[in-house]
Order: sequence, then structure tokens, then C-alpha cells
Amino acid sequence: MAVQVIPVTEGVWCFRRPSYFACSYVVSTEAGAIAIDVGMDSDAADFLQGLKAVGIPPHRLRVILLTHWHNDHSAGAAFLKREFSVPVYYNTGDMPFFTRKTAAQGIRAWIGKRVPEEGVLVLLRGLLEDAAPEAVTANRLVTDGEILEGAFRVLVTPGHTSGHVAYMHEPTRTLFCGDALAVVANRLRLMARPVTPDLPSARSSALRCLREGARIVCPGHRAPLTENVGEECKRLHDYLETEGRWPLLG
Ligand SMILES: [Zn+2]
Repeated sequence: MAVQVIPVTEGVWCFRRPSYFACSYVVSTEAGAIAIDVGMDSDAADFLQGLKAVGIPPHRLRVILLTHWHNDHSAGAAFLKREFSVPVYYNTGDMPFFTRKTAAQGIRAWIGKRVPEEGVLVLLRGLLEDAAPEAVTANRLVTDGEILEGAFRVLVTPGHTSGHVAYMHEPTRTLFCGDALAVVANRLRLMARPVTPDLPSARSSALRCLREGARIVCPGHRAPLTENVGEECKRLHDYLETEGRWPLLG
């Protein structure tokens, strides 16, 4: 299925798989391109299709920054690392899933392997297997507050997964928040409760993202938020601060 390319801001694009609205991003710089998450396909077909559409050859990729291990965000990482020698960065909290130490065995693994990488099934596949589809080791384990590639500040934001990370691109004040926040119909939301195993951590992480003063918010699903960002951050921040309930469906 064709990947959709959504221009975000100068040099930044969103690649979206229509079947599950899963979003990966690329930031183009003079020194090369930086990927934030890399799609739903184990052979990176969707991500490579997006790169081609914006005229970036895969060998221009400098690094892949992963927000978390779920297949709909990281499935293409092992392939891209192997084929194009692109270094992969993620946080230590998700390492057991990325390296498949957690992988299910027996019937659950058997079923998981046979779930197609389509639509919401891709997440089901990951949750059945309880691991990335192919083991990928980190070239660097990112830690809170460090600056990557001279431009991306790491925010460790657990809750949705234990090693979830957001990346703030300082030059454009674009926050790549993965599934720490959601965007639905140009409004900031939260991920649904069934996919938020650690609600207290997820709440703190969401609040932290909302206090960043981002100019643009790029979530893991649907579409980037580029308008009324300050107002939306304040609205959701105030909701969470006043002990607003975490919504069942996000
Ligand atoms: Zn996720």
C-alpha cells in the first residue's frame, strides 16, 4: 500500500501508512538525513518508499532514532541497519524487546509470526510476539537530556513502553513524541488506556512533553500538529494537572 508523504516543516517529512496511520519521520540536513522511527514493514518497504518520494537516497541516512520497540514504529530498523549500515539508537528500557530477549515462545510466537504487517494487526503481531520482529542491537543507548547529532534532545518518556523516548529537534522546536502523546483531528490526545500499561509514568511523560514549548508536535500516529500547538499543549496539560481521568480510548 502506498505510503503517504506529509510535509511538516522545512526539511521535515512524515511518512504515513494509511492502513494504521502509523507515522515515521525524516529530517534532512546538509550532513545527511535523520530518521525518527522507520515504519511497519520488516523490509522497510514503506519507509524506503517515503524516502524515495522526497528524493533522499537511503545511503544519506545518518542515524535511526527509535521512540519505542512496537512494530508499527520500529519494524524496518533491523533491515535498514543491515542493508545500509545505518546506526540505530534507542533507550535501554526497551532493549530486551528490541533484542528479542522477551520474545514469546511456542504457539503464541507461531501465531505472531503469521500475523500480516497490515493495519492494526501489526501491533497485535508485536504484542503476541512480545518483541520486535527481528532483533536489532543499539549502536547507542540514549539517555535523558543528551543531544544527538547536534540537534535532537532526548526525553526519556516511559509509560506506553518502559523505554519510550521522545526527541526534541531544537532547530525547528519540533517534538517527535512517538506514542507519549497522540493527535486526533488537530487536537492533542493520549494513547488509549489498553496500550498504556504504566499510567502514572505515562501521565508524567505526557506532562513533560506538553511543557516543552514545542512549535510542532509529531506523534506516532495520524498526523503532525502544526497549528494552535501552544494552546493545545496548555489545554491537555491543564486537563492532566487537574487529575483528569486517562481516557479509555485516548
Ligand atoms: Zn506504540
